[in-house]
Amino acid sequence: MFLRSTNIERLTCSRSKIITCLVRGSKGDCCDPYVADSPPCPPYSPGPPCPPSPLWPSSQYPPFYYCPRTKYDVKFVYVNDKPPSTRFKDFIDRASQIFFWTEIIRGFAVTLAHVFKEPATINYPFEKGPLSPRFKGEHALRRYPSGEERCIACKLCEAICPSQAITIDAEERADGSRRATRYDIDMTKCIFCGFCQEACPVDAIVEGPNFEYSTETHEELLYNKEKLLSNGDRWEPEIASNIRDNHLYR
Ligand code: SF4
Repeated sequence: MFLRSTNIERLTCSRSKIITCLVRGSKGDCCDPYVADSPPCPPYSPGPPCPPSPLWPSSQYPPFYYCPRTKYDVKFVYVNDKPPSTRFKDFIDRASQIFFWTEIIRGFAVTLAHVFKEPATINYPFEKGPLSPRFKGEHALRRYPSGEERCIACKLCEAICPSQAITIDAEERADGSRRATRYDIDMTKCIFCGFCQEACPVDAIVEGPNFEYSTETHEELLYNKEKLLSNGDRWEPEIASNIRDNHLYR
């Protein structure tokens, strides 16, 4: 492909504009509408036939070969891969590489070097990589150390959830405290943004470190309060540790 050598940075010229330039034999209304003081496009007049290209025989002109004809014409440079050099030294160099299979030997050497290196892969599920304390995995509802549920059914998580995945019902208990009677999360709607965790004033709903909860049915991913509380009981040490590690940034 040929591109203007004087304004290489103006590569945004579309193909159709360059073709217009070629047809009209001027740069006035093709590449230069972006320049305020660009000279007006002169009237079109067919010029003499294009001279032979130094790189291409006339029968094989690439589509962007430019034939200069007017004073507004500009030079184009060829930016595709250059044809291989035909100098004797380069020819012998290439021939020896082909004859002695040097590329294959170098390829085997790279492969052999990796045999003695520690593999980058791990043997999952028996080995697992490290997880950030900010990892957003499966949801869980936490309890206080006394066993009391943390959730006070303020419904901030339900309000902030962008995918409307959370449904909460609340009631007042005999002691006057407010508690959730229903806390459902549709995990197939959740986008794991973490807003529910950020909105919760008592760190009740969290996204724990568990990411291995794939299921075979949609229904298994409709979590209710019991499922979320059991998740919290199972992962409480890790969740508490992550919250402690993260407290400076919240
Ligand atoms: S992580 Fe985001 S999308 Fe998922 S339940 Fe929480 S607020 Fe909703």
